[in-house]
Amino acid sequence: MKVNTKYNTKEALIALYNQPLLELVFEAATIHRQFHNPREVQMSSLLSIKTGGCPEDCGYCPQAARYHTDIDTHKLMTVDTVVEQAKNAKANGSSRLCMGAAWREVRDNKDFDQVVEMVQAVNDLDMEVCCTLGMLTEEQAHRLKKAGLFAYNHNLDSSREFYKDIISTREYDNRLETIDNARKAGISVCSGGIIGMGEAVDDRIGMLMSYMEMENPPESIPINALVAVEGTPLEDQKPIEQWEMIRMVATTRIAFPQSVVRLSAGRTKMSMEAQALCFMAGASSIFAGDKLLTTPNPEFNEDTEMFEILGLIAKEPFQEGEKPVSYPDPIIEEKKRKAAEREKELAEARGKKKDPNFQPRKVVSTN
Ligand code: SF4
Repeated sequence: MKVNTKYNTKEALIALYNQPLLELVFEAATIHRQFHNPREVQMSSLLSIKTGGCPEDCGYCPQAARYHTDIDTHKLMTVDTVVEQAKNAKANGSSRLCMGAAWREVRDNKDFDQVVEMVQAVNDLDMEVCCTLGMLTEEQAHRLKKAGLFAYNHNLDSSREFYKDIISTREYDNRLETIDNARKAGISVCSGGIIGMGEAVDDRIGMLMSYMEMENPPESIPINALVAVEGTPLEDQKPIEQWEMIRMVATTRIAFPQSVVRLSAGRTKMSMEAQALCFMAGASSIFAGDKLLTTPNPEFNEDTEMFEILGLIAKEPFQEGEKPVSYPDPIIEEKKRKAAEREKELAEARGKKKDPNFQPRKVVSTN
């Protein structure tokens, strides 16, 4: 049951969301137990592989170049750095690595080639690899899939109506198209939203309805609480009540019984008790590590302690789908071949220079 047909209208979902909190949590917990092991929570790590300088205007995002925030921007990381960070995340219990680049869209250039190499390398570590790189064409999605990409993240953020108040540089339909392109390539979809941006309950449910209307709803639905960052248009938004996060997680769980509901940004403002209620209500993943792209997140050891207290266990990778096969990428293979050829030529030239009988060719001036 990918979608709970009992709640497939906006009215039914709003009524569900607004029911007494403990009734809602109980119903969500009951459904959660039918489809998931309630003790298992996936630890995922989110790594910003390219930070800042984004041309988009998402009102919540400190990485948009037009806002004056104090994030540390950096260019695309090297493959080696990503592998080192991935190994670190894995050693700390993460079974999934989500790599985020602050791009409007993926371009077919050397940076994308580098991301493809990263996907291959992290997939080789037996971790679920997820990317969030902005808009994506179907061809690019196929290339990532062949490299071993497990999931692609592209959030709808909120309802179609409220979306316009938050982002003007691209449309809701662009987002749906990217999700569709990932789907066509056979990539698992991760897509969710942010609450606390000034939207109404209607908008939160409107977003869930957008997922309900998909032929295949996302396998993974992250629920974020806004982290209001100074310098962004949403800097003055008051933090949402923890209860709202619990309601949103529970409603999402009931609406999409099989999806992984991810308790994402905003956990630093939540007590362990509130997080426990979210796990009870069906959250089955958290992002671990002290940073979520650019915003703060609980430290690994705080989460380890929480897992011990609550009796949770870290979920192994590939429980919701097989490990993708990683095929050699023709563009990267060609680059490697050319690099090897160049290296050979250089080595030969160096060898010739060392040869005592080597006579460099005389250059005859024609002047
Ligand atoms: S959310 Fe993504 S697309 Fe929007 S400004 Fe931030 S990095 Fe750019």
